[in-house]
This record gives sequence, structure tokens and C-alpha cells, in this order.
Amino acid sequence: MNISDTKYKIIRSTRRKRVGVRAQDANHFEIFVPEHISDEAVVKIIIANREHILRLLEKASHKKIKIDYQDGVTVLLQGKELTLRYIDMEYLWDLNFEESTLYIANEYRTMSEAVLKNFYEQQFFKLKDMCQELATRYKFPLNKVYVRWTKSKWGSCSSLKNVSLSAYLLMAPLQVQEYIIFHELCHLMHPDHSPAFYDLLESYCPEWKEHKLWLKENGWRLRILPHSEV
Ligand SMILES: [Zn+2]
Repeated sequence: MNISDTKYKIIRSTRRKRVGVRAQDANHFEIFVPEHISDEAVVKIIIANREHILRLLEKASHKKIKIDYQDGVTVLLQGKELTLRYIDMEYLWDLNFEESTLYIANEYRTMSEAVLKNFYEQQFFKLKDMCQELATRYKFPLNKVYVRWTKSKWGSCSSLKNVSLSAYLLMAPLQVQEYIIFHELCHLMHPDHSPAFYDLLESYCPEWKEHKLWLKENGWRLRILPHSEV
């Protein structure tokens, strides 16, 4: 991690006497400074304290985002915002993708996190199918696909030609999901990050850099559910 890759927001206050830093995720932080501190001075403060800030960013990159489960709160599915609405109904949840609404049964409001987890788990097959279909279409020697709630990696593959995908990818746009899938499928041919690997990836997914950037910028927004790191 490098401090120059990060983005920050300066928050000035007349009442503040000391400098404070709050990291939102691996790449974003807020720096709180007294009113009279110039932008240039802030840059100097950041550079002088980069080790400390990097530690805060590292810590923030692993945390789960807390959702305040209220009517009107939004979550992501395929990069699209879904609004949560609590209504009286028989089902646990009901998705209306056209209306961008995910209905949750009022009765289960206090268990919203578990309901949301169940909702995403019911979509796991979509990631698995996409991976299987791309492997079949482009003749990658894929064995099995797993989807798990992993936070540290978007995907991985094994010597047994199994691919594992992070469930959080379901929240990312389809092209981003496809990029990670191609990344892992290309590893079945090249287990490294060699130029040959990148040439192959580029041939299937020419916009991969754009998708990689999307994950870097938005990845933290996706980590809203408990992880099950293995
Ligand atoms: Zn890789």
C-alpha cells in the first residue's frame, strides 16, 4: 500500500486544535485540521505521518461496513442500488429488480442482516453459472466453482482447477464480475502474473484495468455482511 494511491478529504474546523485522521477503507481517509492550516501544510502532515495513516488504512480495509437497517437504506446488486423496504408479507424477502427495490418482511426486520445474507446466497448460482459458461465457451479447463464470503480476495484458484469467487462480487457490476472470472480462468492456463497471463486476460477482457479500478474504488462499499474467511 502506498500513501500516494489514497484519496483524502480535508475537514477544517475553528474549534479543532489537533490533527485527526479517520480511515474509511483501504484507499480513503478524512483528515481533520484546525481552520488556519493550509492545503500545503496538510500534505506535509500526511507525509510526516504516513506510517501511522497507512496502519489506519490497513485496519479499515478489513472492517465490515455497518448498515443502519431502515426503510430506504440501499444495498448493491450487480452494481445497481436496491432500496430496502419493509412490508408485511409471507416471504422473507422479495426482489423487484425493475423497481430497484428489495422488500423485506417486517416480521424479520430485527434479523435484516441474516435476511440480506440469505438474499445474496440465493444469487450465488448466477456467479457460478457465469463462470461455468465462460469456461465452456472459451474452453478453459475448469473443474469446480465455489462462492464464499471472503473479504481479502475477489477470486482465487487451485491446482485442482477449482475457482473460488467472493460472494461480494454479486454486488459489483456484471462486467466487473466477468473480469474477476476471466482473471481466475486465465490462471488455469498461467498460474502467475506473467506477461503471458496479462496478454491472455487482455484478449478476453480488454477493459480489465477499468474494472480493477472500480473494485479498488468501490470494494469497501460491498463489505456489508459478516465474512467467513478461510
Ligand atoms: Zn491473479
